[in-house]
Amino acid sequence: MTELSSPTPRARGEVSRAELVRWLNDFLRLDTYAGADLSMNGLQIEGTEVIRRVAASVDTSVKTLQHAADSGADLLLVHHGLFWGRPLPVTGPHRDRLRVALMADLNLYAAHLPLDAHPEVGNNAMIARALSLQDVQPFGRVDGHVIGLAGELPFEQSLQDFADRVQKLTGEICLVHGGGTPTVRRLGVTSGKGADRIAEAAALGLDTLLTGEPEHVHFNDAFEYGVNVVYAGHYETEVFGVRALAARIEEEFGLPWQFLHHPTGL
Ligand SMILES: [Zn+2]
Repeated sequence: MTELSSPTPRARGEVSRAELVRWLNDFLRLDTYAGADLSMNGLQIEGTEVIRRVAASVDTSVKTLQHAADSGADLLLVHHGLFWGRPLPVTGPHRDRLRVALMADLNLYAAHLPLDAHPEVGNNAMIARALSLQDVQPFGRVDGHVIGLAGELPFEQSLQDFADRVQKLTGEICLVHGGGTPTVRRLGVTSGKGADRIAEAAALGLDTLLTGEPEHVHFNDAFEYGVNVVYAGHYETEVFGVRALAARIEEEFGLPWQFLHHPTGL
């Protein structure tokens, strides 16, 4: 008699931390970002061994960690984690953040550039899809990785109408620097801090750059390179990735999730 072996079916609604972390590291292709991202991507704090509920937020703070713990999450998924390429003493707010997570046995998983750039759930892919961007190509180089996208809007619209459309998408008023043409057609998208991509946008013949956070040092670039810049907020342009990734985890493992909205207004 032959025994048929089939893989043990995975119980929907829970997954081991080890399996989820392995899946995330692989799905987000973390290995390709080794040494190229200041963020320590991956599992930053080890908590409970079985994950049944996920929370997602853009930032890691005492507030977001406490909110995740209070919501009964076993894992908090963030875009901005706690570790950025330098050793930190466990004092002050850093200690408070670690204490909240450790007391709650909460896992913390961070995905920075891999989640800006991801073709399926990335911040930029999600924004480009929401704006129906066509003929999409890579745009926006950060530390050797292209994290953004450029493409054509399906129809030309005035800069004001475009900014209104972005506002509807994010729920926040945009800051508009009209350095380019009065209409928008060829668009570059880089989530977060992307004001330093104005020259790259001009070189690619884009009329408009949609990014997150303005920087004073790049104010004149928009007008002198002749590129419109729509600043939609660092926070607001980076809510898309963690939400899409949490939804993807639900699809894969059947884990319920919640987005914890803690806007910074920046
Ligand atoms: Zn960011």
